[in-house]
Amino acid sequence: MEKRKYYQPEIETMPVEQIKKMQSEKLVKQVKHVYEHVPYYRDLMDKKGVKPEDIHGIEDLYKLPFIEKSDLRETYPYGMLAVPLEDCVRIQSTSGTTGKRVIAYYTQNDVDLWEECCARALIAVGADKEDVVQVSYGYGLFTGGPGLNGGSHKVGCLTLPMSSGNTDRQIQFMTDLKATVLCCTPSYAAYLGESLHDMGYTPDTISLKAGIFGAEPWTQENRRELEKSLGIKAYDIYGLTEISGPGVSFECTAQGGMHVNEDHFIAEIINPETGEPLPEGEKGELVFTCLDKEAFPLLRYRTRDICVLTREACPCGRTFVRMSKPMGRSDDMMIIRGVNVFPSQIEAVLINEGCSLNYQIKISRVNNSDTFDIYVELPPEQFDDSVKNLTAKEKSLQAALRSMLGIGPDVHLVPPKTIARSEGKAVRIIDERKLHD
Ligand code: ADP
Ligand code: ZN
Repeated sequence: MEKRKYYQPEIETMPVEQIKKMQSEKLVKQVKHVYEHVPYYRDLMDKKGVKPEDIHGIEDLYKLPFIEKSDLRETYPYGMLAVPLEDCVRIQSTSGTTGKRVIAYYTQNDVDLWEECCARALIAVGADKEDVVQVSYGYGLFTGGPGLNGGSHKVGCLTLPMSSGNTDRQIQFMTDLKATVLCCTPSYAAYLGESLHDMGYTPDTISLKAGIFGAEPWTQENRRELEKSLGIKAYDIYGLTEISGPGVSFECTAQGGMHVNEDHFIAEIINPETGEPLPEGEKGELVFTCLDKEAFPLLRYRTRDICVLTREACPCGRTFVRMSKPMGRSDDMMIIRGVNVFPSQIEAVLINEGCSLNYQIKISRVNNSDTFDIYVELPPEQFDDSVKNLTAKEKSLQAALRSMLGIGPDVHLVPPKTIARSEGKAVRIIDERKLHD
């Protein structure tokens, strides 16, 4: 059987003018739907003095207010719902752990559209019905596993719903069942590569051809290493729970940026300081508007991800705009081993545990895996404590941080005044990962 080049050719290669027309029509309807069904959103629009009648097409998008993560926290758990709860069939949640989780709702149609996006991503890297797709993203509230799982079903691949972890079993199934496509975070892919190597496998003794890696930042250097260690082509995929999950955009075999599924989402780039929309090709914060989502249809959602959009023709024939790899966040969030970590969460724990706020976070990457260390200065009165006491304190701090953040840093208590003071803003984070090319 000849492989398909696209999952939905008529949409994925639609002339740009036609895509824009389609977006305009959907936007008018979506704004009306949101205004009528989400009081919180109606208030925001009223405050900005904009009515659904003012939106005639994508040229009026700039008139709409932004939505941010804080709005989603404020309206938790039901405040952003645009359909009756009984029409929803699923929730997913972000990996953020700042108390109130951000929850997204899906109708059956929302799930179908999301899975379709993931199906497009799989076909775009050369997968089709005869492929064996190993999904090693986490399953559950996290969108990675369910998204790619659904996409793989839609394409008709044999799907291995592995979830993450249990590396020996991953490798057993990968080799016994001859998996051809691996979907997981780039960090986990690197770890699987090392484990395969340690067990005596070489790229020629496994069947993998392609990997779809996302949910966290990774570099071109990571790509080269993964391609070498697994004997594959490694592709990027981007998404966020608030907008649906993985597959909001996906890389094709040209490996030159991720195509945004523009029939479902409008991508904008804005100046993160002023909120002004920026012209194509300029670097700024990525903002998404959902055109087809029913249950949780966010308009102008600020992702905080910094990137560039391009409409230069792509050799794959897809006409969807492409986004570069996110080059960092416009806020101070760190992504460590795929988990979002905010300095404010760490500070909350330090305060709670009676520690000083003279601390420093050091993140690095060793063997393609993130290291995460926190240095905390002891208050002078605790400096003379016995080693036993200090070790116990480090352990309890680590446990408290793990329960707040979802991942446990290595905690080091250091003598008073050893962490460099800054004359300007404090330097809390030393990120040695050099994630941005
Ligand atoms: P949370 O915002 O809590 O992490 P998600 O788990 O939905 O919720 O993660 C979405 C975020 O993950 C994105 O906003 C982005 O910062 C990051 N992300 C997702 N895919 C990629 C990717 N391919 N490259 C870089 N960052 C990514
Ligand atoms: Zn392409």
